[in-house]
Amino acid sequence: MNIGVLALQGDFAEHIITLKNIGADAREVRLPQHLNDLDGLIIPGGESTTIGKLALAYKLMDPLRAFGREKAIWGTCAGAIFLAKDAHREQPLLELMDITVERNAFGRQVDSFEIGLEVPALKTISKSDALYQAIFIRAPLIESIQADAEILAALPDGRIVAARQRNWLATVFHPELTPDDRFHRYFVEMAATQ
Ligand code: GLN
Repeated sequence: MNIGVLALQGDFAEHIITLKNIGADAREVRLPQHLNDLDGLIIPGGESTTIGKLALAYKLMDPLRAFGREKAIWGTCAGAIFLAKDAHREQPLLELMDITVERNAFGRQVDSFEIGLEVPALKTISKSDALYQAIFIRAPLIESIQADAEILAALPDGRIVAARQRNWLATVFHPELTPDDRFHRYFVEMAATQ
């Protein structure tokens, strides 16, 4: 599988390392032509307004939307915001996935935290019963899902932190910062079946 990682800003390098560790071909995407022949694309965490402005500057908005109509895209944290239909603010969004996000829902950088999540969907790629240790860094929340989007994980109080809609995956935490590679393997499997 050939997986691209949008490398405009944010922690794309960590995603590439994890992808290579699980045996996928990983490539940085900075220009529209870098999307050619990819099976899937990860949009990393970082700062969603910056990622959006750079995507506009590099004429990536339409090529990314066209890619997302056919292939798998996974947005982590800022990437989940960029993938969303609505973030309650004026900022460039791909507007692909039917989710509404609330940016910085947990407060400031110092309010970053880690929590074990129950993610039933990961059972399809691993028999492990271990909770998924999720790292939240100035994370958004998936405030609501619409259309045929589905919840993959929620906090104990019910707030949504991971969702999937057909070939789109959104996680508000950072799977590239933990040794647990189950989410990356789940995404490669998604990319393989589109
Ligand atoms: N706070 C960032 C934003 O709103 C997201 C943070 C992250 O990606 N870790 O864009």
